Parts: sequence; structure tokens; C-alpha cells
Amino acid sequence: MKPSVVSPPVVELAGVSKTYGELAALSEADLVVQRGEMLAIVGPSGSGKSTMLNIMGTLARPTAGTVHIDGHAVDDLSDRELSALRAGTIGFVFQSFHLAAGVPALDAVADGMLYSGRPLRVRRRQARRALHRVGLAHRLYNEPHQLSGGERQRVAIARAVLGDPALLLADEPTGALDSRSGAVVMELLHDLRRAGTTVVVITHDRDIAASLPREVHIKDGRIAHDSGVLEPAGA
Ligand code: ADP
Ligand code: MG
Repeated sequence: MKPSVVSPPVVELAGVSKTYGELAALSEADLVVQRGEMLAIVGPSGSGKSTMLNIMGTLARPTAGTVHIDGHAVDDLSDRELSALRAGTIGFVFQSFHLAAGVPALDAVADGMLYSGRPLRVRRRQARRALHRVGLAHRLYNEPHQLSGGERQRVAIARAVLGDPALLLADEPTGALDSRSGAVVMELLHDLRRAGTTVVVITHDRDIAASLPREVHIKDGRIAHDSGVLEPAGA
């Protein structure tokens, strides 16, 4: 921890690039996300959205540039320290989360804390609280086939927020849902943000993007527009 009174940005990308062979998936991205923000990352398929999110989530290391997460210089961390940072600070939600068949929601969520080494009894208590938080208190013992797509995504969100992460990263969380279930999931992400979580959402849906306080547009691996950054005068 830095000896600072002001909390550092949750995410700070400076000149971040990621190349795969000849392909520049992400080029010189600068992005600062302050604690408590909620923002959309928008752009065409293949524009580099997931690449940027995975770098923010420390699931991928950049080819160039620096990444700070919650004040930690990710470059300086070993893989082991990185997993600890990830486990304690970051929650992930993907387009579709594969819940194991036959496992009730309560245990699917409790298993998300296996790394903590806490006994099952304690993990179940936390899982129950998290499922309550996502409005699934009445679905604790339902197995995946007894849940709707929207409910399964809410189980995934409960699992992601179990350890109360500072940062929640969601990659197309409503991409596989009908619009009504999608709206419920978005409302839930807004609730989490109101409770203090910093939320970054990748979306294809222009209406969803426009409903968030900040939009970052990506095109061909570059940040083309960021509504959270003032345009220079005369630009
Ligand atoms: P988006 O999420 O906006 O659809 P991605 O970040 O997934 O885009 O991908 C950006 C570009 O990088 C695409 O051209 C994609 O094919 C390429 N890419 C992504 N991941 C890999 C990888 N692991 N290996 C090679 N190319 C990749
Ligand atoms: Mg993607």
C-alpha cells in the first residue's frame, strides 16, 4: 500500500499496447478509472475491447506501457502476487458463465472462494449473502437447469462480488440475454456501483452504453473517444 491519503485510481493504463505477432490488438491506450466510476467500453467486434479488459484484469500482460491496479504497478508483481491482487481486488463477469451441471447456486458461488482456504460453512454463509444481494435468495438450491439465463448470469455476478472487489470487470454481460433479463443485470451492476464498486462494462448495445456515466469508444485497437476526458481546446 502507498502511504497516501487520497486513494489511487482503481485502473491506470499508460501507453498500453498489446500485439499478437504482427497484429496490434491494442495500441497506446491511456485510461484512468477512479474509484466508484462506472463506464462502458464500446466498439466493433475485434476492436480490442476484451484485450483491454483482460489487461485491466491482469489476465494478460501488455507488450508495452504500464498498468497500475489499485495503486499497484502490475509489472513489478510476480505471478503469485498478481493472483493475490486479482483475488482480492477484481471480480470478473463474462458473456456466459459455465455453471457446472448438478451444482446448486449456493455452492457454485461458494466455490468462487475456494482460494481463500476458508471452510465450506463460512463460504456458504458469504455465498448466501451474495445471492441475496443479486436478488436470488429464493434460488439458493436451484441447479443451473432450473435457472433462467438471466438468473444464471446473476449467480455469476454473485460469485464475482463475493469478496467485495474494488473493481468489477464485465465483458458483454448481457450479450447472451433477452432484453428484459439484460436490463435486470444492468440494474444490478448499477446497484453494485451505488454500493461503491467500480464497474467497467464492455457492451455492443448502444442504449446500454449511453445509459452509463462514461463511454470509452475503441476502434482498431485505439481509444477513439473517452467521454470522461475533456477534448483539448480546438480539437
Ligand atoms: P473485441 O473484444 O473488441 O471483439 P479482442 O480484444 O478480443 O476484440 O481482439 C482484438 C484483436 O486481437 C482481434 O483481431 C483478435 O482476433 C485479436 N486477438 C485477441 N486475442 C488474441 C490472441 N490470444 N491471439 C491472437 N490474436 C488475438
Ligand atoms: Mg470481446
